[in-house]
Amino acid sequence: MIEPTSPVIWWVRRDLRLTDNSVLDRAAKSGRPVIPVFVLDEVFESHGAAPKWRLGLGVEHLAERLAGIGSRLILRRGTAQVVLEGLAAETGAGAVWWTRAYDPASIERDEGVKSALTGRGIDAGSVPGHILVEPWTVETKQGGYYKVFTPYWRAVKDRDVPAPFDAPTELRPPARWPDSDRIEDWGMGTAMDRGAAVVRPWLNLGEEAAQARLAAFSGDRIDGYETQRNHPGVEGTSGLSENLTYGEISVRACWHAGLRAQEDGKAGAATWLKELVWRDFAYHLMFHTPHLLTENWRREWDTFPWNEDEQLPEVTAWKRGRTGIPFVDAAMRELFVTGRMHNRARMIAASYLTKNLMSHWRIGSRWFEDTLVDWDPASNALGWQWASGSGPDAAPYFRVFNPVTQLDKFDKDRAYVTRFLAELSDDPPAPALAFYDAIPRSWRMSPDDPYPEHPVVDPKEGRDRAIAAYGNRDF
Ligand code: FAD
Repeated sequence: MIEPTSPVIWWVRRDLRLTDNSVLDRAAKSGRPVIPVFVLDEVFESHGAAPKWRLGLGVEHLAERLAGIGSRLILRRGTAQVVLEGLAAETGAGAVWWTRAYDPASIERDEGVKSALTGRGIDAGSVPGHILVEPWTVETKQGGYYKVFTPYWRAVKDRDVPAPFDAPTELRPPARWPDSDRIEDWGMGTAMDRGAAVVRPWLNLGEEAAQARLAAFSGDRIDGYETQRNHPGVEGTSGLSENLTYGEISVRACWHAGLRAQEDGKAGAATWLKELVWRDFAYHLMFHTPHLLTENWRREWDTFPWNEDEQLPEVTAWKRGRTGIPFVDAAMRELFVTGRMHNRARMIAASYLTKNLMSHWRIGSRWFEDTLVDWDPASNALGWQWASGSGPDAAPYFRVFNPVTQLDKFDKDRAYVTRFLAELSDDPPAPALAFYDAIPRSWRMSPDDPYPEHPVVDPKEGRDRAIAAYGNRDF
């Protein structure tokens, strides 16, 4: 028999915040002792280098936040189910609650955990909090899920999104804290090699930093978002994806800040709210069609002659920012220096890889999964399948970005390419030089190397080749 006063375990995952955290709020209000636990489990172990490192920093930060209100974050490593069953037995916990996840690996894990704990008489279950609208609550008139963004947007834009609430000021501790691992012993940054020291200053770590960034953006810069957001050389977007992906800020808080800005007459707010819904749309699609993550969403692309060889010289050149196309190369360098990439640059880099180089989007998606600190399974997969043409509501096959004219349009004064491409100037700025400190030594690259004289694949030739290949098919 479980005692009603027994501890509640808050199973911490991608919800590294105290503010507007429904699980924590419920646990705190229950009046029962609360034991926050992070498990480095099979799902998190499989993360790429940058996301795993960034996750570790976020977990460490949350531990400090919890210590600030007299609580602790217990760290354990192993299979989630085994760890949680063990901890529940050890602490006498009567409940294990968590924020819901929607990717297939997490769903499978969570179902296993729930049934094992419930079988032991423990109140185990999830609450929403990572997205605005639960994927199964949005249906087309025919009763299916949405495949196109605009009607999805119309269906959700007037939904009631609960207002964000404050963090608890204290959490009741258990009579005795269970033992915890030390995060330093987990080596979550091991695979970052030399990159960590370079990327670290660019991070916006933790919920206070996320809240400050949201306040600064929604109070001011959001006004110019519509016009500025496509220019990678200016700070025209919120930069919140890194915090949203680890739940350091809630998307509900972002939504309400966007609504307030809209009410205050800020011109760009409407567009920004739509971008938040693109994130939800990616989750909607991942939930209903989990093959979005690994397979061509449109099955008719399965026979397309993608190159899947990661070792091809042009793919290596793409990864290293040496294609000879400045917009693409600056994007790939930005990724290595900051752990992020501007959305316009992501589209250009992805289009060049999948269309001009005719390489499979999976190659690019995996590379991003290893290098992005804001890696998000749903948004990354949707972004790649959008760019390649194989996804739902994707860029049509004949729409091949021209990275040269795009540069003239969106980086007219060359602020972006100059910032990240050392080879282009006699006195390169610090971010351009930092790239050489971040990359593996085995790449043997130096800022003194001349910039490639010719592109690895000429944009026009690549475009014609891709269109000919697409055109021969019946899409
Ligand atoms: P803002 O412009 O300020 O937008 C606010 C928020 O809305 C973002 O933080 C993000 O959560 C969401 N958002 C904005 N644009 C999109 C979009 N196109 N799709 C889904 N959500 C969006 N986003 C990720 O968060 N993680 C990824 O791994 C990721 N991979 C991508 C890969 C490719 C090939 C492409 C084309 C896009 C990818 N995106 C990804 C989407 C987008 O590029 C980023 O969300 C955006 O650049 C983040 O910058 P920001 O926070 O300043 O966004």
